[in-house]
Amino acid sequence: MRPILLTPGPLTTSDRTRAAMGRDWGSRDDAFVRMSEAVRARLGTLAGAGTTHATVPLQGAGTYAVEAAIDTLVPRDGKLLVLANGAYGQRAAAIAARLRRDVATLALPEDEAFTPEAASAALRADPAVTDVLLVHLETTSGLLNPLEPIAAVVAAAGRRLLLDAMSSFGAVPIDLRATPCCAVMASTNKCLEGVPGVSFVIAEAGHLRAMASNAGSTVLDLEAQWRGFERDGQWRFTPPTHVIAALSAALDQLDEEGGVAARGARYRRHMDALTAGMDRLGFHPYLDPAVQGPVILTLRDPGGAFSFPALYAALAAEGIVLYPGKLTREASFRIGCIGAITLADIRRTLDAVGAFMGAHAARGAAAD
Ligand SMILES: *Cc1c(COP(=O)(O)O)cnc(C)c1O
Repeated sequence: MRPILLTPGPLTTSDRTRAAMGRDWGSRDDAFVRMSEAVRARLGTLAGAGTTHATVPLQGAGTYAVEAAIDTLVPRDGKLLVLANGAYGQRAAAIAARLRRDVATLALPEDEAFTPEAASAALRADPAVTDVLLVHLETTSGLLNPLEPIAAVVAAAGRRLLLDAMSSFGAVPIDLRATPCCAVMASTNKCLEGVPGVSFVIAEAGHLRAMASNAGSTVLDLEAQWRGFERDGQWRFTPPTHVIAALSAALDQLDEEGGVAARGARYRRHMDALTAGMDRLGFHPYLDPAVQGPVILTLRDPGGAFSFPALYAALAAEGIVLYPGKLTREASFRIGCIGAITLADIRRTLDAVGAFMGAHAARGAAAD
């Protein structure tokens, strides 16, 4: 049975993407170096990066890119302001503190988006801040923060913006030609629909160069990693050859689908069908539709006799994987809309949830 992962990643990949891993590549092999360099260029192009930005892939999960970006790009005597309205913002702040950077957190409740006014006021109040970290799509709730107006006020205040675009990259447009941004961090196994194992940072080349030797880490030093690629197209350490081959195939499929806008539209159709279908079954969304992104839906636990672990187990038995909630103040669970899935998979999921709820009601009635 083909598993349907309705999670924020790793997610359902296509047969073609997995088939691309069916051969071995020598790391110094010309064909691999060419493929790896092409992937690097294509990732930058997706974000509208020109010669002003450099794309630096890194072996490891998305959090490796977040830590690498902070360690490399925030000067040791700089100060990072984290705009946090969920667990990923809080994690970035914890990483910065662990890296002994001066860090301030501007926190909002998990269902509230940041506004440019709030960001601007925080920057006026703290002149020591050199860098601002924004989580584009907060996967904790599924909320989409407004990137463009926040990027504009950060730039107007003369600060650098680091964007955690982990769960938006590939589905929500990011255009570095129009949106001032020092770094965009993302990974292969979310909206790009690749397999897990590689993350990447698209960083302003001038700042990256100026930050040589700033990182305390060797393996997470983005500037050194970048120099390696620029010198001979080679990864500094053992490259994740199969992951890059899968990503190359996944990028072909993204192009064929029609690019970022078309992919975002497909996910939005999944989201709309899921929201309406779950509503009919008595599950209500946690977020206001105005701030709901197209990637993952958080549903309130309806209470009563409902048990998410029981629902999870019932769907898992049919090969459908849901996701637990991550909200700090409310019982909830999540259903992802992303991956190599179709509306038919969403309908099948709704049917399975409906069957579970029906059986549940029947059991409840029998017990009365
Ligand atoms: C998934 C995610 C991360 C971390 O990625 P991992 O691959 O789990 O390390 C960071 N930020 C956001 C917004 C994410 O969705």
